Amino acid sequence: METPNSKRNNVTSKHPTILLRTFGCQMNKLDSAIIEVSLQEAGCQFVDNAKDADVVLLNTCSVRDHAEQRVMSHLGNLKHIKESRPDLVVAVVGCMAQRLGGELFKQSAVDIVCGPAQIAEIPRLINEAFQGKKKATLVTEKIRQLSLDGQSLERFETEYGIEDGEIPGQAYVRAMHGCDKFCSYCVVPYVRGPETSRPPDAIIEQVKKLADNGVKQVTLLGQRINAYEYKAGDKTYCLADLLSRINNLDGIEWIRFVTSYPSAKYFDCILEAMANLPKVCRYLHIPAQSGSDGVLKAMNRGYTSAEYLGLLEMARRIVPDIAIAGDFIVGFPGETDDDFAQTVDLVKKARYKNSFIFKYSPRPGTIADKRLEDTIPLEVKKQRNYELLKIQEEISSELAREFIGKTVKVLVEGPSKKSHHDQGMALPQLVARTAGDWIVVFNPAQRWAGLAGQFANVKITRISPLTLFGELV
Ligand code: SAM
Ligand code: SF4
Repeated sequence: METPNSKRNNVTSKHPTILLRTFGCQMNKLDSAIIEVSLQEAGCQFVDNAKDADVVLLNTCSVRDHAEQRVMSHLGNLKHIKESRPDLVVAVVGCMAQRLGGELFKQSAVDIVCGPAQIAEIPRLINEAFQGKKKATLVTEKIRQLSLDGQSLERFETEYGIEDGEIPGQAYVRAMHGCDKFCSYCVVPYVRGPETSRPPDAIIEQVKKLADNGVKQVTLLGQRINAYEYKAGDKTYCLADLLSRINNLDGIEWIRFVTSYPSAKYFDCILEAMANLPKVCRYLHIPAQSGSDGVLKAMNRGYTSAEYLGLLEMARRIVPDIAIAGDFIVGFPGETDDDFAQTVDLVKKARYKNSFIFKYSPRPGTIADKRLEDTIPLEVKKQRNYELLKIQEEISSELAREFIGKTVKVLVEGPSKKSHHDQGMALPQLVARTAGDWIVVFNPAQRWAGLAGQFANVKITRISPLTLFGELV
């Protein structure tokens, strides 16, 4: 049946079935959730495999080469499927679409290429592909310039960013678009455009609608979320203002924000908000990327390791029980054994709850790729990655051990994808998270149906470095 929105979005000829695959970060997951709501309102149905789909939408990531290679391999498979089903429409959207544009048509399966700034056009593009106008490309040549596209994107976001994504009871809300930081290794400023903060009223309106739809936890998203800044008249709003307004909304119980950039501006106000507002989770994801000042300079990060550790000290002073997570890139061009030793040292001092560790991947068009040779052999990158992970695991285990015997409040996500028989866990097993972002797997006995999206109390009985295991209280 047609809805008024389906007319507006113009997917009118028939109601295609859609397979949507999402690669990459939370921003992409959020884009996918918005695209999904808009297409559902236009009458489309979503399916789980390409066999049942009229349209395959791949929402892609460009941050590392590996992510792009995975998409290329999907496109190879889709080419075979299209040999027997030439009507299948294949759309590549997101960061890879913006980075490669029309070049993606070298992959014969591809019909639509649409960048992240143009996702509002996806219902129209799909409709046109159905009408037989094949091979549409919609990426902006001027991604670094603000344009009217920004406004249509804002309308699209406010209108359709109103339902939770894949985890019941939880939703992402974009507070900021893009990035202006130009870390030398990073493709994000080139594919996501300039850094812009969304109007606070639009964000609050969206969170209210999410709360009305049963969402209990919102995660505010931005590449440098702590740099959120919106000027209206003579008032300037920062992230702490957003946290405070969301804290007052009925229905919302936990508020998170990612990713924080190591910078002093607004940092103390944000931490004070975390310390004083009961709904703000005491969790900070603040990537360091390296512990070597030389490497940090070559990365164009704009801080030293001592300044970074000073920020962590401030965080722990204002919010003593804060859980902190980091990101690191190993094998950046020119990284010596001594540079790496300084990163190890920083990880030991920082005592992160967990770290995301990546092997440097040269990204075409970035400053590092233009000016620096990818000198570190893959074997060395792998070895450094492994070593850093081991050290982090020891720290994570020490921190996890403190939970044994304690009861923690968790928000339940759903059935665990992995079976934890090695931990003596019976089935069913549910996975959940604490406010500090610790993953908790527990055995709910008979009472598991309907727990997804609910809060529960779990008594922790054993641990692994990244997971706490326990029983429902
Ligand atoms: N905006 C966040 C920040 O400033 O830390 C992170 C954005 S990025 C999408 C997520 C992580 O990917 C980064 O923290 C970095 O560790 C990693 N990353 C980005 N570019 C990379 C590259 N060229 N090679 C390897 N890892 C990379
Ligand atoms: Fe990339 Fe740096 Fe921006 Fe993060 S802050 S998105 S790492 S350029």
